[in-house]
Amino acid sequence: MIDALKLRQDFPILHQLVNDEPLVYLDNAATTQKPEAVLAKVAAYYHQDNANVHRGVHTLAERATKSYEAAREKVRAFINAKETAEVLFTRGTTTGLNWVANSFGDQFVEAGDEIVISYMEHHSNIIPWQQLAQKKGAKLIYINITPEGYLDLADAKRKIGTKTKIVSIAQVSNVLGGINPIQELVTLAHENDAIMVVDGAQAVPHMKVDVQQLDADFYAFSGHKMCGPTGVGVLYGKRKWLEQMEPVEFGGEMIDFVNLYDSTWKELPWKFEAGTPNIAGGIGLGAAVDYLTEIGMDEIHAYEQSLVDYVMPKLKAIEGVTVYGPQDPKDHTGVIAFNIEGLHPHDVATALDMEGVAVRAGHHCAQPLLKYLNVPATARASFYFYNTKKDADRLIDAIHKTKEFFQHGSI
Ligand code: PMP
Repeated sequence: MIDALKLRQDFPILHQLVNDEPLVYLDNAATTQKPEAVLAKVAAYYHQDNANVHRGVHTLAERATKSYEAAREKVRAFINAKETAEVLFTRGTTTGLNWVANSFGDQFVEAGDEIVISYMEHHSNIIPWQQLAQKKGAKLIYINITPEGYLDLADAKRKIGTKTKIVSIAQVSNVLGGINPIQELVTLAHENDAIMVVDGAQAVPHMKVDVQQLDADFYAFSGHKMCGPTGVGVLYGKRKWLEQMEPVEFGGEMIDFVNLYDSTWKELPWKFEAGTPNIAGGIGLGAAVDYLTEIGMDEIHAYEQSLVDYVMPKLKAIEGVTVYGPQDPKDHTGVIAFNIEGLHPHDVATALDMEGVAVRAGHHCAQPLLKYLNVPATARASFYFYNTKKDADRLIDAIHKTKEFFQHGSI
């Protein structure tokens, strides 16, 4: 089992007072904190190796290129992609999903085709498909959610059919925290000759993901949600698709030969990576992958479930608190969305911050989901492996104080 108290020592930022209280950071679904190992790796790159990658022959350029490409190999092994050619560095999940929509979508989607997503998607897994559907005259279709907050597989079976070209679903919802049945959706998509795209932003940081086992065609995630730097992410894609696809951006780094009126592209994965990449970010992500691997993804998943198991009954027991989404810890990662009757979630988040507890409030970039749930906004506490039961207690305690404050005017 994870020793969270020990691991917390690796995160300098966690050891501070916020509003005179020890910080309890529960906004990990928005972004996670970075361990010393990642911070040191990024600093060492800038201190010792900073140079542009791929083109230079001097020693620093070779060192930078080696570290950057080594990070790609670490990511490949982490998600068990077949080869590094299938691991594209991006700016994050949003970029990855846009690339699939703009490149694969532009090439393969035609008028009358159907793109299937769900009501629980993040805006970055909705808007690129809206844009594609509008451009191509394709139809965007939404899979329902069950009253318990699960993706409705029976509805998925009704909606994924012979007209479906693309199915794109989050493996884990950033609001409800539930784990979706991606394996079954991949099978459904493939039975209908559609491709399966997975938004893995909230899955890869929290559980073991094996893209070959899932057999997904594309899989996107962000470095900053898994202890890595901001501004770097990954798009995994099967070679058979990436080879057929056109790059989305053009410029330096991605070309082979440039003639006056046409050009040829480098081989995979560089064909998609135009311009100087986020070198420090990629190297930092490699360090984050090492760090998470050392802890163990199955251990992280089990530990988060134990935290949910601990906090969920306490949260639900508070009068006036509504928890959204699946409530069985075994289908859960550490994300819990909730509301307190009569209080706006922004007021809740502000009051919790006064107690040093950082949570998010709002629509969580999932407006269609909140509309579906018929709530304008929620508060959201999201746990990671460096959170403890004490953090959970502090959250519960701060919620009680918040209720008291708004009822009686003192905190
Ligand atoms: N999808 C999900 C499920 C997310 O939680 C997020 C980040 N909140 C994204 C996509 C977008 O990630 P990024 O902003 O890092 O591109």
